[in-house]
Amino acid sequence: MAQDLNANLDAYWMPFTANRQFKKAPRLLTRADGMYFTDDKGRQILDGIAGLWCVNAGHNRPKIVKAIQEQAAEMDFAPPFQMGHPKAFELAEKLVQLTPAGLNKVFYTNSGSESVDTALKMAIAYHRVRGEGARTRLIGRERGYHGVNFGGISVGGMVANRKMFGTMLGGVDHIRHTHDPARNAFSVGQPAHGAEFADDLEKLIALHDASTIAAVIVEPVAGSTGVLIPPQGYLQRLRQICDKHGILLIFDEVITGFGRTGNPFAAQTFGVTPDLMTVAKGLTNGCVPMGAVFATQNIYDAFMNGPEHLIEFFHGYTYSAHPLACAAALGTLETYADEGLLTRAAEMQGYFAECLHSLKGEPNVIDIRNIGLIGGVELTPLPGEPAKRAFNVFLDCWDKGLLVRTTGDTVALSPPLVIEREHIDRIIDTLRGALRRAA
Ligand code: PMP
Repeated sequence: MAQDLNANLDAYWMPFTANRQFKKAPRLLTRADGMYFTDDKGRQILDGIAGLWCVNAGHNRPKIVKAIQEQAAEMDFAPPFQMGHPKAFELAEKLVQLTPAGLNKVFYTNSGSESVDTALKMAIAYHRVRGEGARTRLIGRERGYHGVNFGGISVGGMVANRKMFGTMLGGVDHIRHTHDPARNAFSVGQPAHGAEFADDLEKLIALHDASTIAAVIVEPVAGSTGVLIPPQGYLQRLRQICDKHGILLIFDEVITGFGRTGNPFAAQTFGVTPDLMTVAKGLTNGCVPMGAVFATQNIYDAFMNGPEHLIEFFHGYTYSAHPLACAAALGTLETYADEGLLTRAAEMQGYFAECLHSLKGEPNVIDIRNIGLIGGVELTPLPGEPAKRAFNVFLDCWDKGLLVRTTGDTVALSPPLVIEREHIDRIIDTLRGALRRAA
C-alpha cells in the first residue's frame, strides 16, 4: 500500500547513504517474501543481492520466523556474562559441524564489524597469553573491507571509509589487492594470475620481523570493494607464509560464509583453513543481527591455559549470544539443511556464470568476475565521475524492479541461494537493458 512518508524523512540519519539525495527520491521497502521485496508503492522487486549479502535462504522463511516468535515469548534476553542459555551452546555445537576441520570454537558478536574487531583482539591477545606479547602488528590488504569499527577500518583498505576519521590503529600495514584486469579480465571463476601478490607479506615480514606481527586478515573473496576473486594459489601462498612465521591468518567470511561460494565457507571452496574466521549476515539469514568468530582449538587452549586468576578473554557484548539471534540462527541452519542451501551455489554457479558472462560486449563492460553465486560486472567510469555510471545502472534496475548493489563502478550480484534459473534470466535481462540505457 502506498504511504506518504515525505513528512517524516528528516530525523533518520541513514548509514552509508547520501541523505540529501535520498530525500529527493526515497526508496522504501515494506515487505519481503522469497526472492522478492515489495516497495511502498506495491511494486515487486527481485532481490539480486540477498538483501545485503545476507538473506541466503530468501525472505520470510517459516522456520526462522517461528523460531524468533517462540523465543521472544519464552525468554527475551539472558545476560551472557558468567551465565548462558541452552540455545547458545546448541548453536555453537551445530556451527562447528559446518566449519573446516580445526575451527571448533565459537565466540558470538552482533555484526560483521564486531566480529572483525573481536578477531583482531583475539589474535593479539593469543600471542600475549603465550608469552609473545611483542606480536601486535596487523596486516590487511588494499581494497579490503572489514566493517566500520576502528580495528576494521584500520586493517581495511577503503580510503573513503578511513579518511574522515583521523588516527587509525597503530602498527598496521597493507599488502596489495589482487585486482589485475590486464592479465585476468573476464576470468570465469578463479583467475589464473596473481598468486605472487601474496609475497608482499614476505616483504613486510623482512621489514618488521615476524616476531612483531600478530595476524593477517583478508576476505577470501573481497565483496564490498568490487567482487575480487582470489587468484589460483594465492590463499595457499598466504597460508604458507603465515605458517612459516607463526603469524595467524584470519579469513573475513562475513559475505562468503553460509553457502555463498558453494560450500558452507569459502575456506572449504578454496581449500585453505584460517586460524580465525569471522562471520555474520547469513548466520541468521539476516533476520536478527548476529556475528561470530570461529577459532582453532590451539588458540582457545592458549587462553584456557593462562593463569587461573584471569578471566580467559576480556571481551564480549551485552548482546553476545542473544536468545533471539540464537533462535534465528538455529532456524536458519535448519532451513539451510532441509533445502541443501549450503551447497546449492555449487549447483547453480555454472548457469549463473554463463548468463553473467553473456554481458561481455555490452556497453562499457570492462570486466566480469564470478564465484559461486557472487558476480561482479565492472564498468568504465564516466569521465570525472567515478562510481556514477554504476549507480545509474543501479537506479535503472530499481525502476525496472531489480535490486542490485554497486561498489565503485562494479555492479555486484549475490542473490538468495534459493534462486531458480528464471530469476537468473530476469536479473541478467534487466541488467543488460540497464547497461544499454546507461551507455
Ligand atoms: N566484513 C566484510 C567482509 C563485510 O562484507 C562486511 C559487511 N558487508 C563487514 C565485515 C561488516 O559487517 P556489518 O555491516 O555487519 O558490521
